[in-house]
Amino acid sequence: MISKDDTMFDVVALGEFLVDLAPLGNSSRGLVQFEANPGGAPANVVSCLSKLGKKTAFIGKVGSDMFGIMLKKALERQGICSRGLIADPGLNTTVAFVHLDEDGERSFSFYRKGCADIALHPDEIDKSLLNTRIFHFGSLSLTDDPVRSATLFALEKLADSATLISYNPNLRLELWESPKEARRRILEPMHRVDILKVSVEELEFITGTSDLASGANRLARDYEIAMVFVTMGAKGCYYRVGEHSGHVPAFDVQAVDATGAGDAFLGGILYHILEGLALAKPVCKNEIEKSIRFANAVGALVTTKLGAFWSMPGHEEIGQLMGNQVRG
Ligand code: ADP
Repeated sequence: MISKDDTMFDVVALGEFLVDLAPLGNSSRGLVQFEANPGGAPANVVSCLSKLGKKTAFIGKVGSDMFGIMLKKALERQGICSRGLIADPGLNTTVAFVHLDEDGERSFSFYRKGCADIALHPDEIDKSLLNTRIFHFGSLSLTDDPVRSATLFALEKLADSATLISYNPNLRLELWESPKEARRRILEPMHRVDILKVSVEELEFITGTSDLASGANRLARDYEIAMVFVTMGAKGCYYRVGEHSGHVPAFDVQAVDATGAGDAFLGGILYHILEGLALAKPVCKNEIEKSIRFANAVGALVTTKLGAFWSMPGHEEIGQLMGNQVRG
């Protein structure tokens, strides 16, 4: 599908863009070394779509320090429009230290209080960037003001437009005052959402059930969400799209770092929506599962490399993996 309006973006993401400091072994003196990777789930999603040839932009805030300059350059190098990235000279760019366990599962330590990503103000949003076919956001931009107001402002501006809304709540309880506050704020924009991606843990936190079918059904029904995807790491994905639901197994790969697998998965889904996958009737089960299989391949490939932003696969790599067998 080709858009006639050439000022229109395919996907615009709003939210946190930060530096992930990932451990990279020890120096010759036995001291731990870190690699500075661009990080932040919404930025990873547009990185994936840009790699797949889509027209993307990012809205957010960094400091005008060395990390902020690095992040702006990263967007540009990846072909993502950086016009919406504000560099604030008075603030530090947000940083997260990554810890990887033996299975490649990661946990984070955030250095975020008083930092740039949460300081984006509604007035700083370039409205021309809201001319987009899909708008994507997550829940880290709902933890603090003014970025929470900026996120809700963008959603309000898009309320009467044809723009599809994609949402990936990320459960990082350490960034919230309390689990109750997290749940309330995470649910606040849910009624605006067309495409939702959650992990099993996030589904349980939001709905109170770990039963995939009833949790996904409840979200689809209560908030009228056309597409709900529950990603399950190496076990693949459970979906509820319109009247259809089911499970699509993951690909068998050697995972070294799971960072960004969910963002890559969502990038793969949004790619298929841009290519014509229908959100509602007459959506066909076979088409949905083909799209999820593609998204599973994108997610799997990201786990085979360190980091996420620079690890997004291209069409050739995805095609090669899709020729292979999936897990039983
Ligand atoms: P999140 O990063 O949001 O927790 P997941 O870890 O569930 O997301 O990963 C998203 C998708 O990426 C999964 O549905 C799966 O298709 C793929 N994936 C993730 N981890 C692996 C793995 N170890 N092996 C194969 N595929 C994986």
